[in-house]
Parts: sequence; structure tokens; C-alpha cells
Amino acid sequence: MLKEILKQIANRGYFVLTSHVRPDGDAVGSALACSEILRRMGKKAEVVLRDGVPRVYQRLPFAGRVMQAEAINAQYDAAILLECDSIQRTRLRGLEGRFLINIDHHRTARPFADLNWIDPRAAATGEMIYCLARAAEVKISPEIATCLYTAVLTDTGAFMFESTSEHTFELARELVLAGANPARCARQVYFGHSTAKLRLLGAALSALERDGSLAWMPITQAQMERAGAKEEDCEGLVNYALSIGDVEVAVFFRELPDGRFRVSLRSKGGLDVSEIAAEFGGGGHRCASGCAVDGPLEAATARVLGRVRCRVTPSP
Ligand code: 5GP
Repeated sequence: MLKEILKQIANRGYFVLTSHVRPDGDAVGSALACSEILRRMGKKAEVVLRDGVPRVYQRLPFAGRVMQAEAINAQYDAAILLECDSIQRTRLRGLEGRFLINIDHHRTARPFADLNWIDPRAAATGEMIYCLARAAEVKISPEIATCLYTAVLTDTGAFMFESTSEHTFELARELVLAGANPARCARQVYFGHSTAKLRLLGAALSALERDGSLAWMPITQAQMERAGAKEEDCEGLVNYALSIGDVEVAVFFRELPDGRFRVSLRSKGGLDVSEIAAEFGGGGHRCASGCAVDGPLEAATARVLGRVRCRVTPSP
């Protein structure tokens, strides 16, 4: 498939790259690196993200290239969608009817595009972009390496998730040799938070609930407003619940302005939470997945935790 993608890239000149809403480090890092790789292949490439670049990724090389928009208008020859299981996951209008290339490493990836390169063995989509650069014989510059290292760092949970293997460290080594600075990348992601995020974390931890090996935390729209927090400030909060010693599965419920709830599911590996997210129309990985469910909070927690409970502990 990689060969076919390179062939289609060779035949075209003007590309738009995009990824999912609420982009994470892999979405941003992979899109920025891929845009630079395409430019080094002599192509024109732009990055459009519905939600722009979250604060902690704004200092990545080429981050200034990202256009925040709700629609794709220009006359691109092809659109490359990274980390998306559908056009809808980008929340961008104007992708329909274009030549689409889908590059994704999620377990729940779907072949919705004209070309679909799906590799759930890859620790991050950034790893696939690295393979693309190598196959295209594009030199990995320190800037590209920084974007890809950040993609791999964040999507492996700082090399903590099950997806981390000997191969991941080989890739990280290659990226460091190419010029990525591990300490600087980690500092920007993990020590670059807003005060609002920490206030939100306080509110979420105060509301933490436990039941056996399950832990969950809700955040309401009012709490978001009180903390002056943005959507992106919720990223990673669920991991604090998972960090408790005897917790196997953690769930974070965030109220949306329309009254629905965005759900983040995390597992230490025993339970495949992507299956639960998929039941609610979402997706992701075995240890990290997400979906959205209808409110109110009591109904949302009952539905999602009900599905988790019948898998991790016997029903009461
Ligand atoms: P998070 O909980 O951090 O939002 O997402 C965890 C993982 O699940 C990420 O890999 C993310 O791309 C994926 N994910 C989250 N929400 C959705 C969703 O609604 N649909 C799909 N397909 N994947 C999701």
C-alpha cells in the first residue's frame, strides 16, 4: 500500500493534510512532519485542522502552517487524512468527492478512502509517516524528527502503553539521531500546561468515584467555565484515575455544550476499551479510546460503566 501511496503522490502536486477533531500529539506531529516531507518531495502541502493546534504542540516545527477552518475550499489534488476512521472524524466540510488517502494505526480504523494504509502494529501514525519518508528517500531533518518523536512519545503514553516495543525504541533512537531532543519534546508536552488545566484536574479529582477496579471522573460545563478551561485542557486527565494502583479501567466524562458527554476510556491492558468505545460509535486503541454519549450525566455513566462492569467485574 505504501508503494501505491507514493505512486499517487508522485502523480499529484497539491495536497491538504488533516486529522481528527481535538487533535492529539500524533495527529499534529504526523500532519506537520508529513507536510514537510511532501514539500521536500517537491509538492505543495497545507495542513487544515478543525480545532487548530493545542497549546502544548504550538511550539512544534511548522505549527504555524496549520490553518484552522471548518471547510476545505482550495483546489487540492488529494487529501491525506491521518488517524481518522471516516471523513466525519475530521469535522471538515468539503472533503467529499476528493481523492482521499487514509493513513491510520488505530485498531478501529476503517477503509473509507480511495487508498487506505492501515497498520495497527504501528505504535503511532508518526511511525507510518517515518516509513513514508524513508520509502520516498526524504532525509529526516531535525524538525521532521522533532514532530515524529512527539507523535511517538505522546501516542505511546511516554513509552508506557502496551504498544511500546523494542521497535519503538529503535524508532525513537533513529529520530534522536536525526536531531529530535527527547528532553525538550517531553518538556513541551508534559510541562507546558495552562493553570486552567490544573484547576480542572483538581475539580475532576475531587469528583473521582471508585467501584472495584474501575474509577471514573466527571467534569461539567459549569466546572469548565469556572476553571476558564478549554476543551484541550481535558486531554490526559483520565490518566490520573488510571494511575491508582488497583484501578484497571478509568473513564472520564466531559459534558459538552449540547448536553452530551465526551467519554475517554483507559485500560491497563486487561480490557480492550476500543471495543466498548466502538459500541457507542467511537473507537481508538486497546488501552485508550473515546466516544460520545447522550446525557444527562447519570444516564451517560450508567450506560458506559454498565458496559465496562460486565466485562471487568461480575455484575452485582
Ligand atoms: P481521547 O480519550 O484522548 O479523546 O482518545 C483516545 C483515543 O481514542 C485516541 O486514539 C482517539 O483518536 C480515539 N478516539 C477518541 N474519540 C473517538 C471517537 O469518537 N471516534 C474514534 N474513531 N476514535 C476516537
